[in-house]
Amino acid sequence: AELRRPTDAAEAATALAADRSARPLGGGTDLLPARRQGVADGRVLVDLTSVVGMNAVAESAGGDLCIGGAVTLADLARRPELAGDEALLDTIGSIASQQIREMATVGGNLCQQKRCWFYRSGFDCYKRGGVTCPCYAVTGDHRFYHAAIGAHRCQAVTPSDLATTFTALDASLAVRGPGGTRTVPMEEFFSGPGETVLGRGELVEEVVVAAAARRRATVLEKLRLWEGDFAVASVCVSADLADGVVRDCRIVLGAMAPTPYRARPAEDLLRGRRLTGQLAERAARACVEEGHPLPGNAWKLEAARGMVARCLGRLAEAT
Ligand SMILES: Cc1cc2nc3c(=O)[nH]c(=O)nc-3n(C[C@H](O)[C@H](O)[C@H](O)COP(=O)(O)OP(=O)(O)OC[C@H]3O[C@@H](n4cnc5c(N)ncnc54)[C@H](O)[C@@H]3O)c2cc1C
Ligand code: SF4
Repeated sequence: AELRRPTDAAEAATALAADRSARPLGGGTDLLPARRQGVADGRVLVDLTSVVGMNAVAESAGGDLCIGGAVTLADLARRPELAGDEALLDTIGSIASQQIREMATVGGNLCQQKRCWFYRSGFDCYKRGGVTCPCYAVTGDHRFYHAAIGAHRCQAVTPSDLATTFTALDASLAVRGPGGTRTVPMEEFFSGPGETVLGRGELVEEVVVAAAARRRATVLEKLRLWEGDFAVASVCVSADLADGVVRDCRIVLGAMAPTPYRARPAEDLLRGRRLTGQLAERAARACVEEGHPLPGNAWKLEAARGMVARCLGRLAEAT
């Protein structure tokens, strides 16, 4: 492939738009293996790590956190601006290994493809082969890494852990395209498992976490099979608590549904109420009420329920 190294975000978007086969390149920790696996193409790779400004992390006067799309996960974790963003630090620390975090970028983490083993291993499944092909995960091993809520023809999940936490933090993305910049709420960024709403020539230039969300108490629980592994299930709860009463909250389940799953019925149940153990249990049950598991992964609903209860317990203890 041909490598381009633009220094300006507009130039990068123009390079991406100019060639149908051009792809953004962050650290390459997903794109390069995905190319070998036959699930990513691209004759031209546009390296975003050389784009001025996309490696920056800044805090606005009002306390908004602005993270460049090409900042590496390791750099982000080292930044003083993040000292109080514990859930974000926990999330980063749970991703892969230090070596990978030194390479992997924020934009690349959000845009990484689904990990479904069948998809990555050359099976001509629905997502690789088209609508006449089956989903091999339905009859194959789907115990850990497939959806238990809301999947239809494809049972894969969005693998990005940052996406789960950023959704709970109401983050928004500055998306740069050849015609300028648009803002996409994190919650609306995914169109399917590891699939985004980005159009031709578009890239994630920046992620913004607003000060109001950063002031909330936010906790993460991630279940994985071994250290450095992807989430089998994860939960991020972000709550504004005053005197034990939930003024506002977000509950987001990761690796449970095709895209980060916001448990709105549970949020509604909690809002305006005192966070007792009993209420936490009810809310945790409400989080998985819409579950529609495969035969081998119903246990993930039970795990997620327990993790939500644990998150809420941690928040109650902290207030
Ligand atoms: C062993 C291992 C364990 C892992 N464990 C975890 C885990 O626990 N949790 C987790 O979340 N991830 C995990 N990962 C995935 C890893 O985090 C991603 O590979 C990495 O974050 C991708 O970032 P990158 O910069 O290398 O992206 P790249 O590989 O460069 O790109 C990935 C995709 O994003 C696109 N892209 C890159 N940057 C941008 C941008 N700014 N705008 C638009 N599109 C862009 C590329 O075109 C490509 O499609 C793991 C990976 C490995 C190998
Ligand atoms: S879960 Fe999706 S990607 Fe995996 S085999 Fe089924 S259709 Fe293919």
